[in-house]
Amino acid sequence: MSAIINKISIKIILNEDMRPGIGGADWYLENDVLQVRVVRLSTQKRTMELAVHETTEALVALEQGITVKQVDDYDMAFEKKHPENHGLNAGDQSDCPYKRAHCAATAIERILAFAWDENWQEYDDELSKIGCESGESNV
Ligand SMILES: [Zn+2]
Repeated sequence: MSAIINKISIKIILNEDMRPGIGGADWYLENDVLQVRVVRLSTQKRTMELAVHETTEALVALEQGITVKQVDDYDMAFEKKHPENHGLNAGDQSDCPYKRAHCAATAIERILAFAWDENWQEYDDELSKIGCESGESNV
Protein backbone atom coordinates (compact mmCIF):
# COMPACT_ATOMS: atom_id res chain seq x y z
CA MET A 1 0.00 0.00 0.00
CA SER A 2 1.42 3.34 -0.98
CA ALA A 3 0.15 5.13 2.13
CA ILE A 4 0.85 4.17 5.73
CA ILE A 5 -2.44 3.95 7.59
CA ASN A 6 -2.42 3.77 11.37
CA LYS A 7 -6.07 4.57 11.92
CA ILE A 8 -9.38 4.48 10.09
CA SER A 9 -11.95 7.04 11.14
CA ILE A 10 -15.48 6.42 9.89
CA LYS A 11 -17.98 9.19 10.59
CA ILE A 12 -21.65 9.57 9.78
CA ILE A 13 -22.20 13.20 8.77
CA LEU A 14 -24.69 15.43 6.97
CA ASN A 15 -24.37 15.70 3.20
CA GLU A 16 -23.67 19.43 3.46
CA ASP A 17 -20.70 18.70 5.73
CA MET A 18 -18.96 16.59 3.05
CA ARG A 19 -15.96 18.03 1.24
CA PRO A 20 -17.13 20.52 -1.43
CA GLY A 21 -18.57 18.78 -4.49
CA ILE A 22 -18.90 15.41 -2.73
CA GLY A 23 -22.21 13.75 -1.99
CA GLY A 24 -23.20 10.58 -0.17
CA ALA A 25 -19.84 9.12 0.71
CA ASP A 26 -16.21 10.12 0.67
CA TRP A 27 -12.74 9.05 1.70
CA TYR A 28 -9.44 10.87 1.96
CA LEU A 29 -6.14 10.69 3.81
CA GLU A 30 -5.15 12.97 6.66
CA ASN A 31 -1.55 12.07 7.39
CA ASP A 32 -1.75 8.43 8.57
CA VAL A 33 -5.51 8.47 9.11
CA LEU A 34 -7.91 7.17 6.50
CA GLN A 35 -10.96 9.38 6.83
CA VAL A 36 -14.24 7.88 5.66
CA ARG A 37 -17.45 9.92 5.62
CA VAL A 38 -20.92 8.70 4.80
CA VAL A 39 -24.41 10.12 5.16
CA ARG A 40 -26.97 8.53 7.44
CA LEU A 41 -29.38 6.35 5.49
CA SER A 42 -32.86 5.22 6.53
CA THR A 43 -31.55 2.26 8.55
CA GLN A 44 -28.41 1.57 10.55
CA LYS A 45 -27.65 -1.47 8.40
CA ARG A 46 -27.77 0.56 5.19
CA THR A 47 -25.56 3.24 6.68
CA MET A 48 -23.03 0.59 7.71
CA GLU A 49 -23.19 -1.07 4.28
CA LEU A 50 -22.31 2.28 2.74
CA ALA A 51 -19.50 2.79 5.26
CA VAL A 52 -18.06 -0.66 4.51
CA HIS A 53 -18.30 0.05 0.77
CA GLU A 54 -16.42 3.32 1.08
CA THR A 55 -13.78 1.90 3.41
CA THR A 56 -13.18 -1.11 1.16
CA GLU A 57 -13.02 1.11 -1.91
CA ALA A 58 -10.43 3.34 -0.25
CA LEU A 59 -8.25 0.43 0.89
CA VAL A 60 -8.28 -1.27 -2.52
CA ALA A 61 -7.66 2.00 -4.37
CA LEU A 62 -4.78 2.95 -2.07
CA GLU A 63 -3.25 -0.50 -2.52
CA GLN A 64 -3.30 0.17 -6.27
CA GLY A 65 -1.54 3.51 -5.75
CA ILE A 66 -4.60 5.53 -6.71
CA THR A 67 -4.66 8.98 -5.12
CA VAL A 68 -7.56 10.98 -3.70
CA LYS A 69 -6.85 13.58 -6.39
CA GLN A 70 -7.26 11.00 -9.15
CA VAL A 71 -10.60 9.95 -7.66
CA ASP A 72 -11.80 13.53 -7.18
CA ASP A 73 -10.72 14.61 -10.69
CA TYR A 74 -12.49 11.65 -12.29
CA ASP A 75 -15.67 12.11 -10.22
CA MET A 76 -15.91 15.82 -10.97
CA ALA A 77 -15.40 15.31 -14.72
CA PHE A 78 -17.95 12.47 -14.65
CA GLU A 79 -20.51 14.65 -12.92
CA LYS A 80 -20.09 17.36 -15.55
CA LYS A 81 -20.68 14.79 -18.30
CA HIS A 82 -23.74 13.26 -16.58
CA PRO A 83 -25.38 16.03 -14.52
CA GLU A 84 -28.91 14.59 -14.70
CA ASN A 85 -28.40 10.85 -14.47
CA HIS A 86 -27.89 9.98 -10.81
CA GLY A 87 -28.56 6.31 -11.42
CA LEU A 88 -25.14 6.14 -13.10
CA ASN A 89 -22.18 5.47 -10.86
CA ALA A 90 -18.75 6.81 -11.74
CA GLY A 91 -17.11 3.70 -10.28
CA ASP A 92 -18.94 1.45 -12.75
CA GLN A 93 -17.43 3.15 -15.82
CA SER A 94 -14.78 1.29 -17.81
CA ASP A 95 -12.38 4.26 -17.79
CA CYS A 96 -12.75 4.94 -14.05
CA PRO A 97 -9.36 4.77 -12.30
CA TYR A 98 -10.88 3.17 -9.19
CA LYS A 99 -13.31 0.79 -10.95
CA ARG A 100 -11.62 -2.31 -9.47
CA ALA A 101 -11.84 -0.81 -5.98
CA HIS A 102 -15.49 0.14 -6.53
CA CYS A 103 -16.39 -3.33 -7.83
CA ALA A 104 -14.65 -5.05 -4.90
CA ALA A 105 -16.39 -2.67 -2.49
CA THR A 106 -19.76 -3.40 -4.09
CA ALA A 107 -19.14 -7.15 -3.74
CA ILE A 108 -18.40 -6.81 -0.01
CA GLU A 109 -21.35 -4.45 0.40
CA ARG A 110 -23.66 -6.98 -1.28
CA ILE A 111 -22.43 -9.78 1.00
CA LEU A 112 -23.26 -7.61 3.99
CA ALA A 113 -26.70 -6.78 2.57
CA PHE A 114 -27.31 -10.51 2.03
CA ALA A 115 -26.16 -11.36 5.57
CA TRP A 116 -28.53 -8.73 6.96
CA ASP A 117 -31.38 -9.70 4.62
CA GLU A 118 -31.57 -6.21 3.15
CA ASN A 119 -33.44 -5.51 -0.10
CA TRP A 120 -30.63 -4.47 -2.44
CA GLN A 121 -32.87 -2.65 -4.93
CA GLU A 122 -34.46 -0.51 -2.23
CA TYR A 123 -31.04 0.28 -0.80
CA ASP A 124 -29.68 1.18 -4.23
CA ASP A 125 -32.73 3.37 -4.92
CA GLU A 126 -32.07 5.24 -1.67
CA LEU A 127 -28.45 5.80 -2.71
CA SER A 128 -29.58 7.18 -6.08
CA LYS A 129 -31.86 9.68 -4.31
CA ILE A 130 -28.92 10.94 -2.24
CA GLY A 131 -27.08 11.61 -5.49
CA CYS A 132 -30.06 13.63 -6.73
CA GLU A 133 -30.29 15.68 -3.55
CA SER A 134 -26.60 16.48 -3.36
CA GLY A 135 -26.06 17.09 -7.05
CA GLU A 136 -23.58 14.27 -7.31
CA SER A 137 -22.62 11.03 -5.76
CA ASN A 138 -19.46 9.00 -5.82
CA VAL A 139 -20.86 6.18 -3.72
ZN1 LIG B 1 -17.90 2.94 -4.99
